[in-house]
Amino acid sequence: MKDCTVNILGTEYQIVFVELKDADIDGDCDGTAHRIRVRSDNANNVLNMEELQKTTLRHEIIHAFMFESGLGFSWQHPEQFGHDETTVDWFARQFPKILKVFQELDIL
Ligand SMILES: [Zn+2]
Repeated sequence: MKDCTVNILGTEYQIVFVELKDADIDGDCDGTAHRIRVRSDNANNVLNMEELQKTTLRHEIIHAFMFESGLGFSWQHPEQFGHDETTVDWFARQFPKILKVFQELDIL
């Protein structure tokens, strides 16, 4: 996967793959800078780095959609970011499957 930009509800977000070394994250989304970072280094020796990057990117894109929807800080994420991580990760993991069903039924 390479650096690129993506349009999120009318706002261009830059997606960059960077070494996050021993940081406790695999990516993040800055709703003020409109930038998503995804780990490029396999610091935790996961078996499928590509899958980690794809899952992380989907997760961060959900954050971007929430920021651009005015939900940047209004969803509870106790004393941290304002997004409920369980909800974000649920969307990030289920969205490809949901999209497949929508496409199969031609209901988009
Ligand atoms: Zn998150």
